[in-house]
Amino acid sequence: MTIGVLALQGDFREHARMTLALGADVRLIRQPEDLRGVDGLILPGGESTTMGKLMGSFGLDHAIMECFNNGTLAIYGTCAGMILLAREIQDRTDQPRLGLLDVTVRRNAFGRQKESSEEDLAVEGLDPRFHAIFIRAPVIVRTGPEVKVLAAVSEGPVYVQQGRILVSSFHPELGTDTRIHQQFLRLAAQSHTQEV
Ligand code: GLN
Repeated sequence: MTIGVLALQGDFREHARMTLALGADVRLIRQPEDLRGVDGLILPGGESTTMGKLMGSFGLDHAIMECFNNGTLAIYGTCAGMILLAREIQDRTDQPRLGLLDVTVRRNAFGRQKESSEEDLAVEGLDPRFHAIFIRAPVIVRTGPEVKVLAAVSEGPVYVQQGRILVSSFHPELGTDTRIHQQFLRLAAQSHTQEV
């Protein structure tokens, strides 16, 4: 299986390292051609405005949407990646995004005090809890009918799935627990065989 990691900005190296350690082939994605033959795509954490603009200027936004809509591509977005996938971004109607996930997100949702925090999170399908690292994280404030909440904090959902799309507000790639990446690899394998 080949997993692409969007490598325009943000912590793509950490995602690549973790995905490689799980035995997948990893390809750094910088232009539309790089998406050919990729089964899963990771949108890393970083700065969603910058990443969105860069995606647009390289034509990657349309290329990703085309691979998703006309193929079996699975996508996992962390933090800024979650924001890029969201259909709506609260108070940021003009921020560039892919809009494939039927949610509304609020950026930097945890305020100053909890700007960066760690929490042992109850995640559906994972036992024991997952040690989640949040860095200026978004939270989901609206979920569409197709969206399944896999983990939430008091501010709202932070890990959800909609068909072939998985997103987390937190950063599994910065820890040592690979279980979230394993869930994504399973999703990418299933969607490849049309089961999702
Ligand atoms: N606050 C960033 C944004 O809104 C996301 C932070 C992150 O990806 N760690 O784009």
